[in-house]
Amino acid sequence: MKTVIISGISGQDGAYLAKKLSSFGYKIIGILRDNSLTSGLEYLGVKDVHFEYIDLSNNGLVEKLIKEVQPDFFYNLAAQSSVGDSFINPHHSILFNINSTLNILEAIRLHSPETRFYQATSSDMFGSVACLPINENTLLHPQSPYAISKAACHHLVRNYREAYNLSACSGILFNHESVLRKGNFFVIKVIQTSLDIKYGKTNELRVGNIDIKRDFGYAPAYVDAMVMMAESTIMDDYIICSGKSIMLRSIIEHIFSCLNIPLERIVVDQEFYRPSDIIDIYGDNSKAKKHLQWKYDLSFYSVLENVLEEYHSNFYNA
Ligand code: NDP
Repeated sequence: MKTVIISGISGQDGAYLAKKLSSFGYKIIGILRDNSLTSGLEYLGVKDVHFEYIDLSNNGLVEKLIKEVQPDFFYNLAAQSSVGDSFINPHHSILFNINSTLNILEAIRLHSPETRFYQATSSDMFGSVACLPINENTLLHPQSPYAISKAACHHLVRNYREAYNLSACSGILFNHESVLRKGNFFVIKVIQTSLDIKYGKTNELRVGNIDIKRDFGYAPAYVDAMVMMAESTIMDDYIICSGKSIMLRSIIEHIFSCLNIPLERIVVDQEFYRPSDIIDIYGDNSKAKKHLQWKYDLSFYSVLENVLEEYHSNFYNA
């Protein structure tokens, strides 16, 4: 039986990944911190996960775990994952995200070099680029503490793969959504607040700059790509995206139209603007489609309708 360690198992991607890998019959060890919630795993009906409460910033604890378990796979999904929060507390995002990744890579190098390592990096690493779509060769120009931390992790993974011949790869994922996305992220915030408007709990949706465009996709399909990457014979870095960008304003308009809410309920508030923001970004997923045979052709409007319906039925208290 293969053994897999998943950090960030309490997050959106960790829950979908655990569900997928448990369907393969893998033994799953999930890393949590003391106050992590496992409601995502419970919602998806994932059982038989062994939890380890470990601070990934603690080099000694990470080494001990990897030395003992000698996992076949390590998926490193744990991160302070909000761009907005990273501007508020840059030290935490930079220090935790980079340190934890370095600790895991070092522990694998020293004690379990056969472990196949997957690192969650991000399209945010590219920042504003002159030429779209973004591909795996586009220059990194990170524009937030979060993006800087992910860029460092990306280089660490490449360096450990090249210098020590480790089976390590980075998934450069663009935004991907589901009902398990935390409430401080844009799409779930819009869905939650729109339902609040529909049920008379609030009058308005307050947002920052919604005239920016992002490449959005559906989380479970992106998790499929992570597994394909980690299990591929040749370890490499791949962009995972839909290939199209959509304006944040259009997302709100679509949700509002599904719920018959007038557009006057949108309030743009300068307080929510970020110190720097990317105007438009979308990627080129042809390498993943060609080398991993990953398939993706969902329209984000249909993803939105499904997430809205699932959230309304299973998560929302009217
Ligand atoms: P989530 O925010 O849902 O989950 C993040 C996970 O990291 C949670 O399990 C969280 O634990 C854990 N974590 C956060 N801070 C710490 C910390 N200081 N110590 C230990 N654990 C911590 O993220 P997603 O599942 O959406 O994303 C997974 C990964 O992919 C992340 O690294 C994210 O940056 C990256 N990514 C995600 C994208 C997306 O659109 N979803 C796009 C590109 C990259 P807890 O539950 O305790 O908070």
